[in-house]
Amino acid sequence: MSKLTSTACMTAEDLTTDLLGKIGNTPLLDLTKCAQGSVPSGVSIWAKAEWYNAGGSVKARPALRMIQEGERLGKLKPGMTILDSTSGNTGVAYALIGLLKGYKVKLVMPANVCNERKHLMATAYHAEIVFSDPLQGSDGAILECRRIFNEDPGQYFWPDQYNNPANWQAHFYTTAEEIWRQTDGKVTHFLAGIGTSGTVMGTSRGLKAKNPDIKCYAVEPAESLHGIEGLKHMSTSIVPGIYAPNELDGKISVKTESSYEMVNVIKDTVDVMVGTSAGAAVYAAVTLGQSLKEGLIVTVLPDSCECDVAHGIFNLLLKK
Ligand code: PMP
Repeated sequence: MSKLTSTACMTAEDLTTDLLGKIGNTPLLDLTKCAQGSVPSGVSIWAKAEWYNAGGSVKARPALRMIQEGERLGKLKPGMTILDSTSGNTGVAYALIGLLKGYKVKLVMPANVCNERKHLMATAYHAEIVFSDPLQGSDGAILECRRIFNEDPGQYFWPDQYNNPANWQAHFYTTAEEIWRQTDGKVTHFLAGIGTSGTVMGTSRGLKAKNPDIKCYAVEPAESLHGIEGLKHMSTSIVPGIYAPNELDGKISVKTESSYEMVNVIKDTVDVMVGTSAGAAVYAAVTLGQSLKEGLIVTVLPDSCECDVAHGIFNLLLKK
């Protein structure tokens, strides 16, 4: 039998460290073409390709930091189960990180989360899934998670992503730093969708700490009943404790239909297939760009589109 070369050889421990190291440092893509000439020539639009993270989404960043902080503060100890509510992406990240670090993971999510994600969490990463009422959306999952935790608090580490400062801090220390470095400090505007609000709060705080003139906006679904996966309509939802809108420069509302259309524009102009919240973020970035004379706008593409394909959104678009 031929001998393995030392570079091909990896212990399971190396692999764990290697995978956890593949969270953060995502590429910044030039999406100016997606404005289809509707923004002035001095305006450019860029976006972080967050499906490059291990776990496939932007939520790997806060999931890792919340777990590491739990360990550091002694709230998460060997033998405990990580429990949280999620609309899917944080769950995948918890399940992967839990598996790599040897913790059991229990996730509460609305029953209509796409099958691909459910399979990944349950079958590949061995997480236990509890389904909540799909009609109650992410708020139903939050309430069910709280109920499960209160039944046996000693058994669980509940990061509570909606109220945990480590959520926004992950973006303060990683996403904002990367954007600053990748734009050579030239970023003028930042915007991101609000789910827990960790991405927009942490990145905005980080960028404003570097340059207080940078303008930052939250992107929100225009309707309370919407189809933008991962985003929350704040005035009709349980408001996350970490959300501090007074620190932002405003909010841009996007209709579900506009976000779906932008997903298609992104596919046709730059050949990448992103999720609907990414469509909403880029639609908002284009709208903002149309109101400027010049500027370097940065946004976040939280995930790719596997769930949208599963939900038939691309078929809907093709029928138009
Ligand atoms: N887009 C998608 C697809 C998401 O899963 C989430 C998280 N719910 C967000 C956007 C919003 O991110 P955050 O929780 O940091 O506000």
